Amino acid sequence: MNCIFCEIKDYILENELAFAILDKFPVNKGHMLFIPKRHVKDFFDITKEERQAIFELIDEAKNLLDEKYSPDGYNIGVNCGQVSGQTVMHVHVHLIPRYIGDTKCPKGGVRGVIPDKMKY
Ligand code: 5GP
Ligand code: ZN
Repeated sequence: MNCIFCEIKDYILENELAFAILDKFPVNKGHMLFIPKRHVKDFFDITKEERQAIFELIDEAKNLLDEKYSPDGYNIGVNCGQVSGQTVMHVHVHLIPRYIGDTKCPKGGVRGVIPDKMKY
């Protein structure tokens, strides 16, 4: 199978069922991805145990990122399916540190997946 995330061996964090890496094209300093070790395409198809493993790593990563970069906030997000913007078809959760001033008007955050509806 041709999957870039199945080939990654260089993890920043890992546990039995999941691992964490830095995003190769980061939205912001410290942008990380959390990935189940098992190849699964869709977030809704992972097991409860895999979800738990992923969210445990997100907590660990948050501590690391707080220490290293002191961000002012975070966005957490998953693109589920091509229509939502998913480009790598192996589940991954994005953790994006946010910094004051990184965008002119952050109001609405993840609502920005549909840019015209970001503000309300
Ligand atoms: P998606 O759009 O599928 O939710 O996000 C895929 C993410 O994977 C993107 O943020 C992209 O920058 C990242 N990415 C793509 N190829 C690679 C790679 O080879 N290595 C790493 N670490 N990240 C990648
Ligand atoms: Zn894979």
